[in-house]
Amino acid sequence: MASNGSALFWFRRDLRLNDHAALHAALSRHDQVFCVFVFDVDILQPMLRRNGGASRQVAFMHACLHDLAEVLRLKGSQLLFIHGRPTEEIPRLVDRLQVSCVYAARDYEPQAIARDLQVMRQLNAARREFFLVKDQVVFDRDEVLTQSGTPFGVFTPYKNAWLKKLLPSHLEDFGTSSLWQHLAPPVESDGMPVLQQLPTLAELGFGAAAALAMKLPIGPDGAQSLLDDFGPRMKVYKAARDFPAVKGPSYLSAHLRFGTVSIRHLVRSAQADPSEGSQTWLSELIWREFYQMILWHHPHVVGHCYKPALDALRWDDAPHLLAAWCEGRTGYPLVDAAMRQLNQTGYMHNRLRMVTASFLTKDLGVDWRLGEAYFADQLIDFDLAANNGGWQWAASTGCDAQPWFRIFNPITQSEKFDPKGQFIRRYVPELVDVPDAHIHAPWLMPHLPRNYPAPVVDHATARQTTLARFDAIRASD
Ligand code: FAD
Repeated sequence: MASNGSALFWFRRDLRLNDHAALHAALSRHDQVFCVFVFDVDILQPMLRRNGGASRQVAFMHACLHDLAEVLRLKGSQLLFIHGRPTEEIPRLVDRLQVSCVYAARDYEPQAIARDLQVMRQLNAARREFFLVKDQVVFDRDEVLTQSGTPFGVFTPYKNAWLKKLLPSHLEDFGTSSLWQHLAPPVESDGMPVLQQLPTLAELGFGAAAALAMKLPIGPDGAQSLLDDFGPRMKVYKAARDFPAVKGPSYLSAHLRFGTVSIRHLVRSAQADPSEGSQTWLSELIWREFYQMILWHHPHVVGHCYKPALDALRWDDAPHLLAAWCEGRTGYPLVDAAMRQLNQTGYMHNRLRMVTASFLTKDLGVDWRLGEAYFADQLIDFDLAANNGGWQWAASTGCDAQPWFRIFNPITQSEKFDPKGQFIRRYVPELVDVPDAHIHAPWLMPHLPRNYPAPVVDHATARQTTLARFDAIRASD
């Protein structure tokens, strides 16, 4: 397309320059492209209220923004920063910069969709255009549907249809390096509704976040280093991924969340390795798209069960059990180790996300929404679609969910996936000296280890309560 005047590129959860479909569209169509990031108060204020100024996710995003701003500066351009409400600030900036249109990568969360619609209406009213370009996923919205044209509700047929539809063109590398001359030079901030520079975390109200240790490498280079490290392990992913004491998965989730890596690059990497492990890993990337698709088609899953009838489930009001779970002192070693991993690092292994979510909902009888919210506050990789999908799967309220009568046994899960208790001992120092034979159920020892709690519930009894909870719903169907 012929270039025409200037445009504004709005970065959101796509904090990179390379292999970027939306940025590529802007740079290839316009002479000059300004770049902006908005610290959205409608997203940050509720986080501040809940977390008291400590969020590893915001700290990670901030570090990636610092990196992106520096990369743009070295290219003779600038990342503009705004702290406010995008629905007001983007039209205002467009007006000041006198650009003809705005580009951004499409988002699938209900709150983001509503925001983008409002921005689009305002821009259109001012005779400006707003282009939303698919970049976050390979297939979005209703690109992958059943033969009868309805959205899939079960993963395996969705995955098969996804794979069948995939062509090399869907994995195009939207490299932008040949277009960087179209990045606009820095603007005079006088009279512009922008900040002088990247605000500090403290200026955003997130001062305490700095104190949270964060070991993840940041930015596109960080993502690439994780991928380089994972590359040789991809072959054994299938065998290794379920054992939390082992370095099995890629640890790329926070980078996928903030778009410091391109999904097309990852799918191409999986395709380049024809092993069983890489195919299993590709399936996980497709799970990510499955839940994005579910969220787009069924926004009611935010706050409600995917299956509406299950909103009638009566969960227990048990704040003391919820607190024991959050703090990692349930008396079940694998659950406690997992929760402490989350609290200490902002990451939790996938197997353990399933075990702890099952434990909260099916052993403690606590509403999945409370666990979902706790994960949202703690995870660096928190992603509404994946988190909601994972919680509803574990609670048996979602699409393609774990059947309600299949209840993880926290002891056998521990025996199977952390047989020697290596992971448990890493996070639960009270159990360091417990012999392997008792590490999964220390309450069976003659004396409980010092400072370690007795189990807060009996699994066999809790299991019966959960079966009855679901039976009550089935009876009233
Ligand atoms: P890898 O095993 O290397 O997988 C590669 C990528 O595939 C991940 O980075 C992720 O983007 C995607 N992926 C893997 N498994 C899933 C899955 N089951 N659903 C959707 N995408 C998947 N993932 C998040 O990114 N954010 C969340 O907030 C989140 N919350 C979860 C909550 C629960 C209760 C459960 C059961 C799962 C949740 N997951 C979430 C999915 C999964 O646990 C993480 O994506 C994974 O553990 C991240 O580690 P990794 O990057 O090393 O994964």
